[in-house]
Amino acid sequence: MKIPEKIKQEVSELRRQIDYHNRLYYTQDRPEIPDADYDAMFDRLLFLEREYDLVSPDSPTQRVGGEPLGHFSQVAHELPMLSLDKVFGEQDLIDFDNRLKKRLEDDAGLEYSCEPKVDGVAVSLLYVDGLLQRAATRGDGVTGEDITHNVRTISGIPLKLLGSSLHGRIEVRGEIFLGKAGFARLNKRARKEGSKTFVNPRNTAAGAVRQLDPRKAARIPLEMFCYSVGVVDEVTMPDKLSEVFDLIDSWGLPVNPDRSTEQGIENCQRYCDRLLSKRDKLDYEIDGAVIKVNNRSVQERLGQNARTPRWAMAYKFPAEEKSTRVIDVEFQVGRTGTITPVARLEPVFVGGVTVSNTTLHNMDEVARLGLRIGDTVIIRRAGDVIPKVVKVIDPARNKSPKPIEIPSECPACGSPVEKDGEVLYKCSAGIICPAQRKESIKHFASRGALDVEGLGDKLVEQLVDSGLVKNVDDIFSLTQEQLAGMERMGEKSAANLLQAIEKSKQTTLPRFLYALGIREVGEATAQALTAHYGDLQPIMDASAEDHERVTDVGPIVAGHIETFFRNEENRALIGKLISHGIQWPKVEISTGSQALAGKTYVLTGTLEQMTRNDAKARLLALGAKVAGSVSKNTDCVVAGPGAGSKLSKAEELGIEIIDEGEFLRLLDSLS
Ligand SMILES: [Zn+2]
Repeated sequence: MKIPEKIKQEVSELRRQIDYHNRLYYTQDRPEIPDADYDAMFDRLLFLEREYDLVSPDSPTQRVGGEPLGHFSQVAHELPMLSLDKVFGEQDLIDFDNRLKKRLEDDAGLEYSCEPKVDGVAVSLLYVDGLLQRAATRGDGVTGEDITHNVRTISGIPLKLLGSSLHGRIEVRGEIFLGKAGFARLNKRARKEGSKTFVNPRNTAAGAVRQLDPRKAARIPLEMFCYSVGVVDEVTMPDKLSEVFDLIDSWGLPVNPDRSTEQGIENCQRYCDRLLSKRDKLDYEIDGAVIKVNNRSVQERLGQNARTPRWAMAYKFPAEEKSTRVIDVEFQVGRTGTITPVARLEPVFVGGVTVSNTTLHNMDEVARLGLRIGDTVIIRRAGDVIPKVVKVIDPARNKSPKPIEIPSECPACGSPVEKDGEVLYKCSAGIICPAQRKESIKHFASRGALDVEGLGDKLVEQLVDSGLVKNVDDIFSLTQEQLAGMERMGEKSAANLLQAIEKSKQTTLPRFLYALGIREVGEATAQALTAHYGDLQPIMDASAEDHERVTDVGPIVAGHIETFFRNEENRALIGKLISHGIQWPKVEISTGSQALAGKTYVLTGTLEQMTRNDAKARLLALGAKVAGSVSKNTDCVVAGPGAGSKLSKAEELGIEIIDEGEFLRLLDSLS
């Protein structure tokens, strides 16, 4: 078909205009035209492309793909995506600079590239011959997930790089995030539509990036700043990072406008101070600054540790604090019946999230704070840490204070509340208490436990409230009809859930042990029990005294484990679960050499040839104990790069210290 020149011109002009308005709308938040006009242009372009077969991969119409994906495929990063070491203040920064100079054997002041540390999701974009080919999450740094379908919907990310004749592959890395304006707009829309508002820009961005359905991702106005290049062939990159930024900027890739090149570390500190003082005015959330050696040839000379480059640092800003008022205190019942006071707060935006409630941990903490309902308090939040009530301010301001008292009856079932140990309180009812029942089922299905995908908190509550599920084993008797009858469940999701439940039966012993919810048995202890006993039956038959021989199990936890498995109801529950088909592969426990029996090892720093878990498993197999901290009972410390206080403690106590090479030779000689 011969396409009229006029049509070709119209298509190219429409694409240019749509890209332009996309940028204004999404990245600058100042649309020039009404949405209806934009939609009309978009529809016209769609029509012309279809009519004249003019669809091309870089057209704005190709940003939102068709059908949702069934699953994510894995992407192996050709060059690993490293993470950064963190520093927290001026002295750390000076130490960092000194370390570099020493390693370079050069006292001359270094040139640094500084940029805000955006609180988002690290991704890698791969362009081939100038076209966006693939986008992937960082994942564990070695393997990520393919998120191309979602990244294509981000209007600030070019589908085609500007500039003619870009050949070969160019990998660009950066942070995808949701800006403050985009976040506010999203919540405004949610309120208008009467749907749930979003709590936190970072989690919203992370959720959007990991959508299987690109149409859902497209509704979130995500943005990106690029901060480095990965694999590059056929294009020569400038030596200075600051010039790399300018170059990729000229290709249409978004780079941070608040970046800066600084001479010497003192100027980096000044940059950080300036950035901190304008933090609130930036349109995106930051949690610090990133400082990198500017010359890439110098970066190469400095090299990297196992997981972090030596030439870059994340300078973390201090935790954010805000004041707000405690409206009420509620008492929540946990899985084991522990009753925890939770403060309901006037919502406050702190450290990048809206906080409307936070745990007060226990009644001792309430007493320590001197907290009463109606008090104004300081809330602190740093990074991913749970927000914390730091202190009460101006108690006299609270004109009608109400004391916080532990209820005498369980708020979930009305059974008497009793004291449990020094500071805790418990519902006395045990598993008949619906709150405890719900919590234990949520725990059973959670990620580190049986990991039943799709069995979320809301659904567990519905299932318990409707009486369909009383104990954890009941989830294995659920039927398609019962599930499809639940709120917000269709035939399809019911079928998916049944499949996930079926799949969860093939598990591992550590997961199963953790899922049982034995008091104080976390994932690490479940691993240690597995490594020590190899199978469930010996654990069930062992005494508390036996359990104390397991790494890191003390007398209290040993007592909890024994009590749990002596309980007839628990033994019956385990029997039922196994009869439902739950199984795990057998674990080999070493019956061979116990050459290190009675020895206590401590692992510290980064191991490069093996993971720390592997190292631990090898030691346990040889009969050694592996402890978490150095004491006079430690026999040997295995220290890798980055070892800190444990290493100095070992030196102080004169304990044998070996590096990874010596450790591997030792293992070889013993096995
Ligand atoms: Zn209760």
